[in-house]
Amino acid sequence: MAERRVLLRGGTVVDGTGSRKADVLVVGSVIGEVAADLGAGPRGALVLDAEGCVVTPGLVDVHTHLREPGGEESETIESGARAAALGGYTAVVAMPNTTPAADSADVVRYVLDQARSACCHVQPAGCITVGREGKVLAPMAEMAALGVRLFTDDGTGVQDPSLMRRALEYASSLGAVVAQHCEDASLAGAGCMNEGEWSSRLGLPGRPSLSEDVMVVRDLALARLTGARVHLMHLSSARSVEAVRQAKAAGLANVSAEATPHHLSLTEALLGSYDPVFKVNPPLRTPADVEALRHGLSDGTIDVIGTDHAPHPPEAKQVPMCEAAPGMIGLETALSVVLTDLGLPIERVLALMSWQPARLVGLTESQGGPIVPGAAANICVIDLARRWTVDPARLASRSRNTPFAGRALTGRSRHTLYAGEPVVVGEEAQR
Ligand SMILES: [Zn+2]
Repeated sequence: MAERRVLLRGGTVVDGTGSRKADVLVVGSVIGEVAADLGAGPRGALVLDAEGCVVTPGLVDVHTHLREPGGEESETIESGARAAALGGYTAVVAMPNTTPAADSADVVRYVLDQARSACCHVQPAGCITVGREGKVLAPMAEMAALGVRLFTDDGTGVQDPSLMRRALEYASSLGAVVAQHCEDASLAGAGCMNEGEWSSRLGLPGRPSLSEDVMVVRDLALARLTGARVHLMHLSSARSVEAVRQAKAAGLANVSAEATPHHLSLTEALLGSYDPVFKVNPPLRTPADVEALRHGLSDGTIDVIGTDHAPHPPEAKQVPMCEAAPGMIGLETALSVVLTDLGLPIERVLALMSWQPARLVGLTESQGGPIVPGAAANICVIDLARRWTVDPARLASRSRNTPFAGRALTGRSRHTLYAGEPVVVGEEAQR
């Protein structure tokens, strides 16, 4: 059988090297040709319209909860990867807070097996500690041997500083990144929204931004001491952004920071609806915090936008605020929310959502690289002018807990090619 040929026609290629008007011909799983005008392409080629669109390396999410094994009623590797592809992603890092947790080679192998038929690359992350209990280090070396490059107890942060120090030394010897969910549990307590004026007014227990700030400062110190690579996940507070800015300015180069679309665009005021769809950890904070996160994006303090896609079934969300599970889905809305709300140049958006995350998790061989002949064909085509309204019922995720329901957005991923295969064509999943 002849190799599949796909021609992306009429778009503007934007990658880490710049932008230019060009058609892109994909042959099999790689990019075959990039030129100003490839006409109708070779005979038998599938021609996908990219007129007026941006053709770019696929997005990479370093922070996705796929819930499998154990939480298949909310998401599976297959459904989550489909949601990712529809959002323009060609790779996601699967968080290890599954049931059982991915704290051993066995569970990592299971995820890798399930991921083989997924419609984007699924890179398993491993736990820092056994069962994410924060007591004993997980066997990181055996997971690293299977290709795990990022370790995290996400859902909770590693509370014990001496254990965190040992985790960093261990991960560093493996060339891996340690990603921290920055919350001091004793300060966060049972709070279910940001602590402040709104929590007092609503009579809900607060979760102070201080709980994030102290762990960020602690981990910056540990990063300095150990030289290990530390990734600070879903920053939400102005003070923690400032702490990272100062650390980087002082020369600390082994630290990266992440922000989510929801923390960059939503505030605690939404909790006034008492709708648990807006409950997330760390919580939505004040307009000043949102402003600080946005500033952190534009000045390079924040390196990546991660979704923290966290699917939950209705029964986990349709309960009183304090009992509801924290988290929001985001794979299918992330790019559109960023394009609509942040006003960043497209090159900067793609740096934050494609090549910088690819670099962070060591996927540069096949993800986030320049669109040139011979490169792996992991590509997304974005229509920057596309207007659409988020309808939770039409999302591919098994869960519906999006905080953006009913929101009108501008800009959307139109086609996604994963390893050369058109997995999304015209905003429709192909399998
Ligand atoms: Zn987290």
